[in-house]
Amino acid sequence: MRLETIAIHAGGEVDPETGAVAPPLHFSTTFKHGPAGERVAGYEYQREGDPTNDRLRAAIAALEGGAVALTFASGMAAISALLESLPNGARIAIPDDCYAGLRVLAAEFLPERGIVVATVDMTDLAAVREACSDGIDLLWAETPSNPRMKVCDITALAGIAREAGALLVCDNTFASPVLQQPLALGADVAMHSTTKYFGGHSDVLGGALAFARRDALYERVAHRLHVTGANLAPFSAWLTLRGCRSLPARVALHCANARRVAEYLAAHDAIERVNYPGLPSHPGHATAARQMRDFGGMLSIEVRGGRDAALAMAGRLKLFTNATSLGGCESLIEHRASVEGANPVSPQNLLRLSVGLEHIDDLIVDLERALRA
Ligand code: PLP
Repeated sequence: MRLETIAIHAGGEVDPETGAVAPPLHFSTTFKHGPAGERVAGYEYQREGDPTNDRLRAAIAALEGGAVALTFASGMAAISALLESLPNGARIAIPDDCYAGLRVLAAEFLPERGIVVATVDMTDLAAVREACSDGIDLLWAETPSNPRMKVCDITALAGIAREAGALLVCDNTFASPVLQQPLALGADVAMHSTTKYFGGHSDVLGGALAFARRDALYERVAHRLHVTGANLAPFSAWLTLRGCRSLPARVALHCANARRVAEYLAAHDAIERVNYPGLPSHPGHATAARQMRDFGGMLSIEVRGGRDAALAMAGRLKLFTNATSLGGCESLIEHRASVEGANPVSPQNLLRLSVGLEHIDDLIVDLERALRA
């Protein structure tokens, strides 16, 4: 089955009890069991699993081509659960450009357990090999990366990880499984902030991990989730499952709009640089063309004139709302250095754009107006 069909049918089975075509939503925290705790219908307590999350997990596993998936209260909860399942003293490598939350987790929390974190340019395979030379347990990839849109070669990283006896985890949030399936390229785990394209409407927080195999790693992370309770609430699971249905259709329009925005801005004198893997000038274009179906709805730009010029442009936009997050129907723009906390790493003239589903001509007029003043 093609992805568009999977998106609609996985986890979307007609309710056997009522015939309801839309998935039922169960809020119950507890499920009847026998006098000796025998499970009657497969469930016991919401923290250990519920029918609505099971539907979503089936959908995400199917979309990522994984054996099994877990869902979490947020993307960061998914990342934390996975990294917490590593033994004390483990060695990991994370990308030099990645979601700021991972960087904070790696800097503040992981060292408390003696976990050694190397920060590596994952697009530089020689640098990755070098980082693995003293032993490595886990390589973290994020492609395209947040916010500089760096593209790393998942197949090559999977080869390096395999040789080193390490896991390869890929944050697939920017691409979504519609555009890129890291497990098919050799990754062990695909991670998502489902808050973004899966939810698709900027109204539900969530995270997910899709595992290539139902193995000891999956069991460790699932056990941790069941005990520590970073569960996705059933209503959030239901909303996210609803998002799955339209994910391929939405992502197609995000890509088409983002490509036009990228081309328009790349030709504009006020813009120093456009980071969008769909542009042939992007250093990761060939890799992206090989491993992605299309180039996504995210881009970042570096505005001529530095921080002040970037903030002035962002402030003049009307359709692009100044807000964090991404992957919703509405276009958003954000000056990342302003929201990265005490030690921002993004260039001061960088703005990140999440290109939405508005009519492309209206988006271009909005940008034109903001750049003219
Ligand atoms: N990964 C990426 C690429 C993100 O952009 C984000 C959030 O912006 C996260 C992970 C964290 O997800 P959440 O905000 O759902 O915890």
